[in-house]
Formats: sequence, structure tokens, C-alpha cells
Amino acid sequence: MTNITEKSKKQLLEHINELENYIKSLKIDLVKAQTDIEKINHVKSVFLSNISHEIRTPMNGIIGMYNVLKQTKLTEEQKDFLDIINISGQNLLSIIDDILDLSKIESGKLELESKLFSINDEIEKIVNLLIIKSKGKGIKLIYKRNNNIPKYVYGDASRFKQILINLTNNAIKYTKDGSVTINTELIKTDNKHIFLKFSIIDTGIGITKENQVKLFKSFSQIDSSTTRKYGGTGLGLAISKNLTKIMGGKIGVESSLDKGSIFWFTLKFDNVPKDEVYLISKVDTQESNLKKLSVLIVEDNLLNQKFASATLIKQGHKVKIAENGMIAVEKFNNNKFDIILMDIQMPVMDGIDATKEIRRIEKMKNVAIDKQVYIIAVTAYVFERDRKMCLAAGMDEYLTKPYKPLDLIQLIEKIYSKAK
Ligand code: ADP
Repeated sequence: MTNITEKSKKQLLEHINELENYIKSLKIDLVKAQTDIEKINHVKSVFLSNISHEIRTPMNGIIGMYNVLKQTKLTEEQKDFLDIINISGQNLLSIIDDILDLSKIESGKLELESKLFSINDEIEKIVNLLIIKSKGKGIKLIYKRNNNIPKYVYGDASRFKQILINLTNNAIKYTKDGSVTINTELIKTDNKHIFLKFSIIDTGIGITKENQVKLFKSFSQIDSSTTRKYGGTGLGLAISKNLTKIMGGKIGVESSLDKGSIFWFTLKFDNVPKDEVYLISKVDTQESNLKKLSVLIVEDNLLNQKFASATLIKQGHKVKIAENGMIAVEKFNNNKFDIILMDIQMPVMDGIDATKEIRRIEKMKNVAIDKQVYIIAVTAYVFERDRKMCLAAGMDEYLTKPYKPLDLIQLIEKIYSKAK
């Protein structure tokens, strides 16, 4: 009897040993798999960054030229054709943005901004933007400013707007007649945070209970006929769900077929201290009296040069052009500029090296920091690490291609209202 027990004990120990070795080898495999995933994710992120650059650069030319052409004398038919070019270009860009966003979120690379902004003002901007679309469909787009929510909050305004635009765009898209209403509601507030709820209520086609569970997943559309009839990629809701989660909130839907839907989401923002609110409202009421500036556009692409100079000249600014970083440094040495718009990828000398050289020359000449030329990076790269690279080289601001004339004008206004 004892012999058998001893034997089985020995066998058991051997099994345990085997198992332990197996677990060890599994752990090694797991670590290797994790490193592989990280490597793949890195390759994916570099690939997406490059691909987006490759697509964004020619798109910048197309959309830029649309803006320049639009200001010339055109027949009604030509205007219609141009609008189609613009709409298709914007659609293509938003698809690229969606794919990039989703990949950034999935790899945990999405970084949120914390900037001061007014919820009511941002919603009003969105309504002004989308009202053209809703009017075109004969639908009312309703939003009433809510004075019960704080005037200003700290948070990521552009990600907040992205969710709201996604849901409001959908509401307009899937509504034939009636209205789309945006509501805001204060859920709770404490010393540090403000929790708000946003609802987008439509009187559109509605969604059955079975189909509601398919929502909020990547590339999920209720059925293929939806794609054919309304277009879209099925990414908007998935991105919105991920964004609300990252921003400390939730998203959901209540809907009944043929009656309409309510898409809602909640978000957490940071509170603004009372004394800061007072200061901001003072700045808000000041008028801008922007002087005419001297700007150097450093850009190798002819279309982009024309677009930037047309935008700036229309604002009354003086413009000089350099085709690459080397020429930019030369022009900087022989002229006085207020602002340099610096492209990154250029032949001969790129924007990063040119910026470093300009900063080196300024240092050599003992130029005070507040007298240094303002350098704005203009690039099709959209990742945070690209932005950091530009700032580390000595650039002050960052503009992502393709940009609209208003983006450039507002950025310059922002710089000068800060500087003066
Ligand atoms: P897309 O609109 O690009 O297809 P979304 O992720 O934004 O992608 O939406 C996924 C699907 O959810 C849509 O294809 C549509 O079937 C449905 N959907 C979204 N919003 C609404 C709405 N307000 N009313 C009815 N259906 C909707």
C-alpha cells in the first residue's frame, strides 16, 4: 500500500514538474506574443501615419485649389461642379480621419487635450455648420442655449465636437421630415468635475430593438441596404463610443422604428475656478485689431504655396515664398518676418532642420525670446509624436494639412492676441 502511495506521489510530482515547465514555456510565449503585438502596432501606426501623409498632401492641393477657384468668376454650372469636388474631398478626408482615429484609440495612443472652452458656443458652431445640411433636407435643427450649464469648462473640445457632429449628422441623415433637437443637461458637479448629458433627438426612420444591439461596433451598419441608400462607413458610432469611454462617459440609444431615435452621451469635464471665469469674460469682450504681417511661406508644393499665399494676401498680409528649408534660412537672414509657415517634408533641407538653423541664428544674434520669429509647422502628419518633434525643433504652433483658410486666419489671430 505504502509502495503504491510513494509511486503515485512520485508520479504526481513529475506531473506537477511538467505542468510548471509548461506554464513557464507559456509565459515565455506570452511575453514574446506581447512584444510581437507591440512591434506590429508600431509598424501599423507608422504605416498609417505615412499613408495619411501621402493622401493628405494631394488632398490639401485639391481642397486648397477649390477654395482659390471658388473666389474666381464662375458660371453656375462650374460652381456646382466645384461643390462636388469639395464634398467628395471632405468625405474622403473624414474617412481617412475615422480610420486613423480608430487605430489610435485601439492602440491606446489617443491623447486628450485639456483646453478651456464654452460648451454652448461650440454647440452653436456645430448647429451653424449643420443647419445648411438640415435645411437642404427640409428638417428643423433645434438647439436652445442652456444657461444652467457652466459657461466654461476644461476638456477636449474637438473630441467633444467630433461625437456631437457624428450623432447629429446621423440624425439628419436618417430623418426624412420633422426635426433634430440637441439637448444639454447638467447631471452633477463637484469641486473638480462637471458631468453633462447630451441628447440628439430625431423624428427619423428609427431602429428596431434587435438592430440596436448591433450598434456601436466597428464597421457595423444595420444592413447593407443602409450603406447603399445613405452611404457611410459604419465607423462613426464605434469611434463615438470609444471617445465617450476615454472621456469618462457613456453612450446609448432609445429608439422605435418609424418614430425616431434619441442618441445620448455623457461626458466628464474639468471645472474652471471662479476667478478664471472672470478673467476669460474680460478677454472675450476685447476686439481684435490685428496688424498686417509679413509672412514667409516655406513649401515645395506649388498648389499649397498658392493656397496659403492667396489666403494671407486676402487678409492684407505680405507674403514671400521659399521652396525649401535652405532658401527659407537664406530669406530669413535677409528679411524681417513676423511669421514663418514651415512645411516639414521638403527636398534639400526639411522643415525641422530649417527651424533648428533659424533658432541657432537667433541665438547667435542674441534675439530675445519674445522677439523671435513665430514658426508654424504646416504638415500632413497628424500624430502627437510628429507634433512633439516639431515643437522640440523650436516651432511654436502646429497646423494640420489640409487646412481651411479660416483655420490659418484664426491661428494667426490667436497668436497675435496672445502676443500683444
Ligand atoms: P454610418 O452612418 O457611417 O453608416 P455609424 O456608425 O454612424 O455609421 O452608424 C451605424 C449605423 O447605425 C448606420 O448605418 C445606421 O444604420 C444606424 N444609425 C445611426 N444613427 C441613426 C439614426 N439617428 N437613426 C437611424 N439609424 C441610425
